[in-house]
Amino acid sequence: MLLFVIYAVLVWYGAVKWRHNWRAFAWVGGGIVGVLIVIKFHTMLDGWTRQEIYLPVLQTLLWSYLLLVGSVGFFVACIPQSRGAWCCDKCGYDLTGVPGFADVCPECGVPISEDVARAAERRATVVVSAPVPAGPARAPRDMVEILGHTSLSHTRSAAEQTPASTDEQDDDRHAQHQPPSQG
Ligand SMILES: [Zn+2]
Repeated sequence: MLLFVIYAVLVWYGAVKWRHNWRAFAWVGGGIVGVLIVIKFHTMLDGWTRQEIYLPVLQTLLWSYLLLVGSVGFFVACIPQSRGAWCCDKCGYDLTGVPGFADVCPECGVPISEDVARAAERRATVVVSAPVPAGPARAPRDMVEILGHTSLSHTRSAAEQTPASTDEQDDDRHAQHQPPSQG
């Protein structure tokens, strides 16, 4: 029973993959032929086993199954592809604006055909516009002002101090370590 589900999914998968193409119809047609073979085989079982396995109910189910697989398969095969004229012929990559920089698809490397290149260029100039900022840009903030609100600067901000020269820093260190006894 599970095999019938897998079979139907396989047929419909091919129909989706190659839809709006002769391959989808060939695939669904092949799927229908496969079910017809099963129906024929089931009828032949009747002759071989002298009506021990043959069940007319199963035959009805098989014909219903054939109708389901065929109708859904052909319906899906008729659905057009979602890719537009500006997409790569092979992989479907959206080539809007790409032909201005390259003549092959950046996704799969296949050369871009004339029609696709023209459609992609037209779409790039018509559909895609440059981004416009919603409002005026915010003024840059001063770091001193930002640090003034943190616990780092309870006393003075380092930005407001004039840096001491290295000589003065050395003198400070010596003064701390040597007590001024010999005065
Ligand atoms: Zn491609």
